[in-house]
This record gives sequence, structure tokens and C-alpha cells, in this order.
Amino acid sequence: MDKRHIGFNKPYLTGKETKYILESVESRKISGDGLFTKKCHEFFEKRYGFRKVLLTTSCTDALEMAAILIDTKEGDEIIAPAYTFVSSVNAFVLRGAKIIFCDSESATPNIDIKKIEELITPKTRAVVVVHYAGIAVDMDPLMKLAQKHNLYVIEDAAHSIDSYYKDRPLGSIGHLAAFSFHETKNVISGEGGMLVINDERFSERAEIIREKGTNRSAFFRGEVDKYGWVDIGSSFLPSDIIAAFLYAQLENLDDIQNKRKHIWNYYREKLNGLMEKGYISFQELPEYATNNAHMFYVLCRNLEERNKLIDFLKSRGIYAVFHYLSLDKSSFYRNKTENHEMKYSDYYTDHLLRLPLYYELTDDDIDYVTENIKSYFEDNG
Ligand SMILES: *Cc1c(COP(=O)(O)O)cnc(C)c1O
Repeated sequence: MDKRHIGFNKPYLTGKETKYILESVESRKISGDGLFTKKCHEFFEKRYGFRKVLLTTSCTDALEMAAILIDTKEGDEIIAPAYTFVSSVNAFVLRGAKIIFCDSESATPNIDIKKIEELITPKTRAVVVVHYAGIAVDMDPLMKLAQKHNLYVIEDAAHSIDSYYKDRPLGSIGHLAAFSFHETKNVISGEGGMLVINDERFSERAEIIREKGTNRSAFFRGEVDKYGWVDIGSSFLPSDIIAAFLYAQLENLDDIQNKRKHIWNYYREKLNGLMEKGYISFQELPEYATNNAHMFYVLCRNLEERNKLIDFLKSRGIYAVFHYLSLDKSSFYRNKTENHEMKYSDYYTDHLLRLPLYYELTDDDIDYVTENIKSYFEDNG
């Protein structure tokens, strides 16, 4: 096989992005909450029945808004998975909270719901969950537990667009949820995100926090006759130019999702033989979850083999990558927490291998990737 170059990710453009950006620019209304922001908000509220959504400059910022909205204070405890991206927890650290890390479950890299209750103390304020790879956390028992202990649940739904828990879209179940449109996600705007407000009590304050602590949104709707400084906040709303880009993507969401699911299924089919031989393994989808093809990963037998496979694939021009390092062992947090027993999170840190997955990846490319993985195991298995 001729050597190719297959990057890990390639941002997909539907073709309408620059047209809509030009429309936005020429409208001369390019700050936040313009025409395209409204179109994006309507899209999400209509398609998924989200009670209220607000585009933000990133998922990180949506999480920071969530941390402010639930009144996170110095000394509060936030329970979160160790196996996640820093933004899931950094938002709460910024407000003085201590992160109580919870291990992953064995069946998926998601937080182990069964281990949460033992971590709850009188200081616990919220549980953050991440639907890893767009595969739902088991939300019903979690919401019940949260209700019992009077805790907030925040969904870090960065991976989760167009994915479901039973018949409910991810992002619609916790009190608040945060999505990402970073260029590595299914639907993109370069940098960008969204806060979903499922608990009505947060709606008005969310608008204020997003507008530098002012009641400007209510002013523009004519609900108050002047606007001023009413709370803390920051500048969390994106320019309408970003929303214009995003809207072009949203119009093509079904096409993007169908293509990604095809790629996912084709990988799975092509690698089935290696699983049967025991070289790699896959995880079953829990019965309550759907797969939105955010990510295709395999589990290797050990760290050394995973890393050798990454190097081998790189020598063949293929960029496969590992993912999170358990955050309790990060240089920033390892001395700030006592609990480092993260059996499954550490397992995923060492064994998980993500393969290239992007819209323009062809069947032929996937044949090339999977043939190379097979040849690695033929020579080294
Ligand atoms: C990508 C990602 C984020 C951050 O998203 P940004 O939009 O880049 O801020 C947060 N959490 C998880 C789980 C992510 O994968």
C-alpha cells in the first residue's frame, strides 16, 4: 500500500459557512445575539426541545457560567469524573471549589454512578457528568440521587450533540448542560459552545452573567427601561459571525451525522476480526444510550502495545491518539486531592486508542487504516 497522510481530524465545511458569514458582516450587526445567533437558538430549542439555550464563546465558558449559576463557593465540593478534559472541572476550581474525583465505570469511560453516593458530603454542591464519546451516562438513577441529596447535575455534553438517553436528548436532563463547537467536535464553529438551561430558575440570571453582569438582554426585549450592572458576569456571548458559521453546520446536521455513523460502522466491521482474535476490544453500547459517532476508539491489551501501535501507525502516515490522563494525577491537581484510586480511569488512560474520524474520511482511507492495524498485529501480535 502506498503511504498516505491521514490526520486525526479535519474540520468539515458544508460550503455555506462563508456565505452566511458574509451575510452577517454585510448586515453590520456582528456583535452577539444577532440574526444567526437567534437562528441557532431556535434550531436547538425546536429540534431537541431544550427549554432555553444560549450560545457561548466555548464549552469551557458555558461551564464557567454553570459554576456561577449554581453559586459555587470557596470550600464547596464538586463530584466529577477523573477521566475528562480539564474544562469540566476547572470552571469550578476558578470559583474556589474542591474537586472530588470519581472513577469511571468498567463498561464505558463514563463516571461510575454507583460510586457517587459514597463521595457525597454536606459540602457537595453538584455532580458534573461527561457523556464520553457521546454515550449517555445512566441519568435516571443519577437524577434521583441528586434529588435525594439536593445536588445540581451539570452535563458536560461537549461530545454529545444529537445523542440520546432513552428517548431524551443529551443536554436536556441535568439542571444545566454545556455543548462544544470546537473544531474537533461533530458540529463546529472553530471555537464555540452553548449553555442549555433546563431549570427555569436559572434562565434570567444566565442572560445577565453572559452579558457582563448586566440586564442588557432584558433591556433589548423592552422588559426594563434601562440597563445596568446587576450581578457578576463576563463576556460569554459569541460574535454573530461565529453563529453564522455554526448555522451552516446545523442546517447539515443530519448529513454530518449520517456520514459519521457510516464511518463508525465501517471501522467496526473492518476491525471485527481483530477483536475475535483478542488483539483489541470494543465496548457495548448500554441499552439506554445511542451512538452519535463522535469518536471511534478501540481498547488495546496494554499500554506498551497501545503506544507501539500509535508509533507504527504514525510511520504509515496515520495519526491515532490516546485521550485523557486521569485528572487526579495531573501536575496541577495531584497534590490537591488524596484519592488517587481510579482503577478504570487509569485503565482508559493506558488502553484507549482513538482512530481518525472526520466527515471526509473515505471507505478507502478506512481500509488503509484498518489494513495497517491488521498488519501490525500480524507482525507483532
Ligand atoms: C472539547 C471539550 C470541552 C471544551 O470545549 P471548548 O468548546 O473547547 O471549550 C470540555 N469538555 C469536554 C469533555 C470536551 O471534550
